[in-house]
Amino acid sequence: MRPVQAGDTASAHEITLAPAKVPVVRDADVVVVGGGPGGFAAALRAARMGASTVLIEKHDMPGGVHTIGLQGAASRGVGGIHSELMQRFADAGCIYTVTEATLPDWAGNPLSHYEAYLKPGSAFTRSSFNPESAGCVMVRMLEEAGVTALYGTSFVDTVVANGRINQVIVENASGTQAIRGKVFIDGSGTAEVSARAGVPFVRGGGPQPPKAQWDGQHRPIPGALLWIMSGIDFAGVAAYQKRDNDPTLARLIGAARSAGDIPENLYRPRMGGEGVYGAHYIGHPTLDMSPMQGPGTFVFWQNVPYEWALHMDDNAEDAARAKRALREFIDAEARFAKKYVPGFENAFISNVGRYVGVRDGRHPMAEYQFTIDDARASRRFPDAISKPMTKTFFWDTHTAYTFEIPYRCFLPKNIDNLLLTGASLSFAYETIFMVMRNFPWCTQTGEIAGYAAGLAVQQGIAPKNLEWTTPYF
Ligand SMILES: Cc1cc2nc3c(=O)[nH]c(=O)nc-3n(C[C@H](O)[C@H](O)[C@H](O)COP(=O)(O)OP(=O)(O)OC[C@H]3O[C@@H](n4cnc5c(N)ncnc54)[C@H](O)[C@@H]3O)c2cc1C
Repeated sequence: MRPVQAGDTASAHEITLAPAKVPVVRDADVVVVGGGPGGFAAALRAARMGASTVLIEKHDMPGGVHTIGLQGAASRGVGGIHSELMQRFADAGCIYTVTEATLPDWAGNPLSHYEAYLKPGSAFTRSSFNPESAGCVMVRMLEEAGVTALYGTSFVDTVVANGRINQVIVENASGTQAIRGKVFIDGSGTAEVSARAGVPFVRGGGPQPPKAQWDGQHRPIPGALLWIMSGIDFAGVAAYQKRDNDPTLARLIGAARSAGDIPENLYRPRMGGEGVYGAHYIGHPTLDMSPMQGPGTFVFWQNVPYEWALHMDDNAEDAARAKRALREFIDAEARFAKKYVPGFENAFISNVGRYVGVRDGRHPMAEYQFTIDDARASRRFPDAISKPMTKTFFWDTHTAYTFEIPYRCFLPKNIDNLLLTGASLSFAYETIFMVMRNFPWCTQTGEIAGYAAGLAVQQGIAPKNLEWTTPYF
């Protein structure tokens, strides 16, 4: 309870509150906000370098989109903490793998999120980790490294003076608190710390074509709420698809729509054409799923309708609308599948992600912002963080480029003791999928941010003054 105090004022549209005292409850070398792949790896690396490290995470475990958000796609380790993580998941028995032998009729199936584009019957390997078990492993790893992880703690603001963050303000069961640090790391996934600290940014969103149809409005790549259904007999689904020649379930969807069993916007056509970010993100014509956790269990995607242009990272109305709509879609999709799709008769919702993942949040401006032209030109940098990488850029119709990223992408403008990481790094819209915001890369950039923070603390300097001359990876 905050009693009205002398100095408070109130009008119809705003209130002014007299200054409040906020206790400084911790003092750390490195303070990381957000425990997704970026923040997790950053905290782990900094702590392993001997820095006292606090991690602030508003949910109940680390892993971000990949645990709390149920995006459990496992990949081969790419080195460093990412490889260690994949090994720890495997050791804990939380990786589940299917192949053409264990899931026939999956390759080339239009319902498959990842394998739809394979030739039917072709060989494939799809591995996923169980998000809940993976979260437990990640909690343990942070404990082992001596990170003070404050779960259930929300970052709300920064206290900034002379181009430095002095403290972050957080809220948790104890109320409003301040945490002091020497170096801060923005692992929020949406550059929230940077924005609050006054770092300039470009809002998410871009000129999503098809060019001929583009109406000039910039819309973010839609975020998504992932959910899991168990008790599915996929052989039964595949048998129906073949028997009734209904590979996309269009006939069942049509029947359900005619019967009033499908709300508007649940199934929407995909957008195709030059420069369109992966078909999966823009449109949702049928069930969109991937095997997960064990036999008969699949994770499903529900994307925000692209046309709505929701900015869930900086607009509470948009965020709330997405949560309401996607829950409704999930409920309707599950009821549709159970009632109409053979193989789903005994299926049930077993988990819904704790939050709607943001794919295209703020793009903070750093000392360098990486653009698609850097990739196209194979630009080299004296402060490259890794050896040249060859990766695919969806924006340029799936073109693979060999490129480098400079350390300056980690250094936000205006603030000397803040490092960016993961999806909060400084990249232009055209470069973000599938490279700059994928799980392995976010873990790698987290590790680099943690390393830079650890070095800065050891040398008693700001991360901006570190001389970066050798690639880390
Ligand atoms: C729906 C979706 C599907 C995706 N699919 C894939 C895929 O198939 N393969 C792939 O490689 N990548 C995928 N990605 C991309 C990848 O998941 C993200 O880019 C990556 O997780 C970003 O890592 P991060 O650590 O920067 O942020 P996040 O994973 O977003 O983690 C941010 C963390 O910060 C916490 N946080 C945020 N704000 C606060 C606050 N105010 N206070 C305290 N804590 C806070 C959050 O709770 C969260 O734990 C997907 C992303 C989304 C959104």
